[in-house]
Amino acid sequence: MSEPRILVTSALPYANGPIHLGHLAGAYLPADVFCRYHRLKGSDVVYICGSDEHGAAIVKRALADGVTPREIVDRYHAMAERDFAAFGMSFDHYGRTSSPVHHETATEFFRAMAAAGAFSTHTEEMPYDPEVQLILADRFVVGTCPICGNPQAYGDQCEKCGTALSPRQLIEPRSTMSDAALEWRETTHFFLPMGEHQARIEAWIATKSHWKPNVLGQIKSWFTLGLGDRAMTRDLPWGVPVPEDVARAAGVDPEGKVLYVWFDAPIGYVSATREWAQRAGDPERWRTYWQREDTRLIHYIGKDNIVFHTISFPLMLMLHGGYVLPENVPANEFLNLEGDKLSTSRGWAVWLGEALEAFPADYLRYSLLRTLPETRDADFTWADFAAHVNNELADNFGNFANRTIQFVAKYRDGKIPPLGTPTDEDRAVLAALAEAPAKIGALIDGHEMRAAIQELMTVSRLGNKYFNDAAPWASRDADPARCDTTLHVSLQVCAALSILAEPFLPFTAAKLREILRLDGVRASTPGGGEGLGWDDAARPLLRAGDPLGAPAILVSKVDDAAIEAQRALLERRAAAAAAAAGPAPALPYAPLRETITYDDFAKLDLRVGKVVVAERVKKSKKLIRCEVDLGFETRQILAGVAEHLGPEDLLGREVIVVANLAPRKMVGLDSQGMLLMAEDRAGALRPVTAPSEPGSTVS
Ligand SMILES: [Zn+2]
Repeated sequence: MSEPRILVTSALPYANGPIHLGHLAGAYLPADVFCRYHRLKGSDVVYICGSDEHGAAIVKRALADGVTPREIVDRYHAMAERDFAAFGMSFDHYGRTSSPVHHETATEFFRAMAAAGAFSTHTEEMPYDPEVQLILADRFVVGTCPICGNPQAYGDQCEKCGTALSPRQLIEPRSTMSDAALEWRETTHFFLPMGEHQARIEAWIATKSHWKPNVLGQIKSWFTLGLGDRAMTRDLPWGVPVPEDVARAAGVDPEGKVLYVWFDAPIGYVSATREWAQRAGDPERWRTYWQREDTRLIHYIGKDNIVFHTISFPLMLMLHGGYVLPENVPANEFLNLEGDKLSTSRGWAVWLGEALEAFPADYLRYSLLRTLPETRDADFTWADFAAHVNNELADNFGNFANRTIQFVAKYRDGKIPPLGTPTDEDRAVLAALAEAPAKIGALIDGHEMRAAIQELMTVSRLGNKYFNDAAPWASRDADPARCDTTLHVSLQVCAALSILAEPFLPFTAAKLREILRLDGVRASTPGGGEGLGWDDAARPLLRAGDPLGAPAILVSKVDDAAIEAQRALLERRAAAAAAAAGPAPALPYAPLRETITYDDFAKLDLRVGKVVVAERVKKSKKLIRCEVDLGFETRQILAGVAEHLGPEDLLGREVIVVANLAPRKMVGLDSQGMLLMAEDRAGALRPVTAPSEPGSTVS
């Protein structure tokens, strides 16, 4: 049987800042687990990533720093490569979109699509910054919002009131590149008329019912809005130039025109695969992965990139022709940090490089895997991190291996004791081991990394319980043969763990194999070679009589001081960012309402309810329809929050419900109660939640 051929990509990180924990939880760590697992399975895997080095944001950053775009991307490309390596990311190739191979590949792509008649051209008046002499995309224009008066509204949207805008609507529009007042210039661009192909993409997506609900939900809303024309070129001095002959043939002046960064970046996956093949001395080999229909192509991304990887890039591949389309796009939601949205501009982020100076990579990998925002946004806190490392990784996994190995070192001369005559209990543990690789593997292959690492911990928990129940310290003198059997079985569990933990915790797993002197396991990194693999963890791998290596602590606990230092660093950085941004506008607090008596308050019946269904109400901009489980019954409640929150902000959460509010009808639907919301001074809403069972009273 030939093993499947798998091509995995992680979103190309944008080379204008360092890698942070939010990146890792989205597109990187889950993909690394997937690839390491499949290499251990013997699959033919190529794992591709690289830096996304084009686009207006790089140009803006270069102008702000007074350097060239090249200096910006060189700095952050090198930093990302270094940090990813220290974190244990196992890319087969980490490319960059400023490379010659990428320019060549992206140019060829554009040329082939143009030849197939994929593009149209339109001429528009665009905002122009006379100071830096750049035509600006809408996002690089700021001005005063005509609706709410926010002086920092962008040319595409006011983030305060949520109104979609165009630069023409802004009062006193300025360039974010230089602060210059805008002028207007006519410019002609290539457009991809995506609407013409909507039926074709919808038909293809209809075959993807196995995709994650959060991904399919977003795609559906794009289809409902209708796909429009998207500009595929930009006026910028930095990027992949539009091929001159193609431009002239279409009547477009090629001067200063480059490919839109979201056209060129996904092609970066193809060009990085070409570079990988060239370096391997087999330049045409990239075609085996990209151009054969039986390749499993998987794009790991964060939710902000869903439209590009499920609609526009697949459409580009279809229109070019000859390419495989993705089997799956397992996008994760966002990782928040200490209860607040992650924001690099507000300094609310944990840089990977700094975190790795404080903690081993596997501690971060473990806690992030436990927290992955697989189905909805998740919150990383340093308190959870300490609990994950100390109570689970150290007390469960590390402790089981340590106590077993220490016991053998101390009382059995460091040699693996014989199995002897196993009892039903011993056999039950070995039988559970035999099933573990398939169980954990199926979860990894289904992109359920959070469940997969919990299943791994189930194995070490089983080992701990077995060791405790068998009590080898009691049988050591009374029944040495029984003690030997217990130790033998425990060591076989350790050996299995040293393979099964490899995709998740590669550094710890390698250390454990070294202590066990378990040689001959193939590497989970590129070019891993032959040897014991994933499925071998199902059978006993250690031989009685063989010596173990010197015992060593596998996992040390993290102390409060180290955690406090991380929190302080975060606060300092946020304060510095706030100081740099200037004083926050002083918004008024809502005035207090009139005093009420306790009896007034006691009339309210507040209950905890779990939101089991949440969906936008068609024909209403404001309403989200929820079904809320109150324990004793499930109710339909309409929440007027759709302009502030999405269904994903409510789904699965334990909210507080006013349970005795008279029912009312809205847009023809009954609403039986109300969800409590907190509204801050800027008008942002958050659901009020309580981690308690449905039906709990609140007073
Ligand atoms: Zn506004």
